[in-house]
Amino acid sequence: MKVLIIGAGGVATVAAHKVAQNHDVFTDIVIASRTKSKCDKLAADILKRENVKVETDQVDADSVAQLVTLLKKHKPELVMNLALPYQDLTIMDACLECGVNYLDTANYEPKDEAHFEYSWQWAYKEKFEKAGLTAILGCGFDPGVSGVYTAYAAKHHFDEIQYLDIVDCNAGNHHKAFATNFNPEINIREITQKGRYWQDGKWVQTGALEIHKDLTYPNIGPRDSYLMYHEELESLVKNFPSIKRARFWMTFGQEYLTHLRVIQDIGMARIDEVEYNGVKIVPLQFLKAVLPNPQDLGENYEGETSIGCRIRGIKDGKEKTYYVYNNCSHQEAYKETGMQGVSYTTGVPAMIGALMFAKGLWKKPGVWNVEEFDPDPFMEQLNKQGLPWHEVHNGDLEL
Ligand code: NDP
Repeated sequence: MKVLIIGAGGVATVAAHKVAQNHDVFTDIVIASRTKSKCDKLAADILKRENVKVETDQVDADSVAQLVTLLKKHKPELVMNLALPYQDLTIMDACLECGVNYLDTANYEPKDEAHFEYSWQWAYKEKFEKAGLTAILGCGFDPGVSGVYTAYAAKHHFDEIQYLDIVDCNAGNHHKAFATNFNPEINIREITQKGRYWQDGKWVQTGALEIHKDLTYPNIGPRDSYLMYHEELESLVKNFPSIKRARFWMTFGQEYLTHLRVIQDIGMARIDEVEYNGVKIVPLQFLKAVLPNPQDLGENYEGETSIGCRIRGIKDGKEKTYYVYNNCSHQEAYKETGMQGVSYTTGVPAMIGALMFAKGLWKKPGVWNVEEFDPDPFMEQLNKQGLPWHEVHNGDLEL
């Protein structure tokens, strides 16, 4: 299958290496991004590590016209959108125009508003259905594996899922005073928004990072974990209507939070334009330019991530708990792909989603979230492709 990857950042780098490692399925690979030199550098690294030749190209993915020209030139069967959430709709439009299938790792977000939800992309369902094309949404780790874990639990371990807590811990140390693990602009927009969780059929809003508690992560220990809104909650409560409460927790260290507070207090998290020396700039975009590039964190990154789903529900008339998780070492990820664990845990599932599509296992016209497909072959590949998972039955969920 011919696949076209859009983007050449941390996540795209990992996904491209993994795609190349599965060259028997992905026979032709193209990488296109805004800055072609980054694609060329990545292609050279893939040739060195995986001994696979990759084509590269340049595209501004904000432009449907440029995307259509790109797709007509390369004629891929699937586009893996690993650029930024701002480009989701333009890429989906171009895919429809050119008859190409689509996959991404983050839902659409308008540039001028720090707000994300699936409604914009779900609105494309009928168009993809009519075109006979598949769109797979949110196929990173969270969203992505978190949805597959939930679908796997529902299929094999529960008659009814009632309580779902997605827990995301990064216990790594990159030895920088402050850095984000993926695109700083997207990351800071996400973390500074209000918290939200699902309870008894409605959303409950909280202050940003207002609710927190210690949770114990395997092989790591207790870490202060903060309740945040995360996009997969929206699709999971829709696709598993028995869920009474769904929450998302992420760990942050005190140093990180202090930096974040200062960034906000001094106006550097603003996403509106300000005039500086006669030039209009967006403070958060300027901040991105001076912060460490998440792609450069890998070399000195120690420790590991631990992400999983803690689920309580009913099986055979009895209450049970289930915890399924993966731990990923930053150094192991770096050795294999040159990127740190957060890019790795996102890029590997993106490749597996593409693999599911290529094998015809996740192929049905329309726009789908990952939990709407069969989780079993995906779970099998997680074990083979570098993100093995573990289960705890009837343990203490702490939640
Ligand atoms: P990076 O900033 O490292 O990479 C983004 C890439 O997209 C860059 O190569 C950038 O080009 C390119 N790009 C940006 N705008 C355009 C454009 N208009 N046209 C063409 N290319 C463009 O981000 P990450 O790799 O860290 O993240 C990639 C995606 O993964 C994001 O959407 C992020 O939200 C998502 N993500 C999902 C996670 C999950 O678990 N589901 C977790 C982490 C991230 P240039 O180099 O020129 O700037």
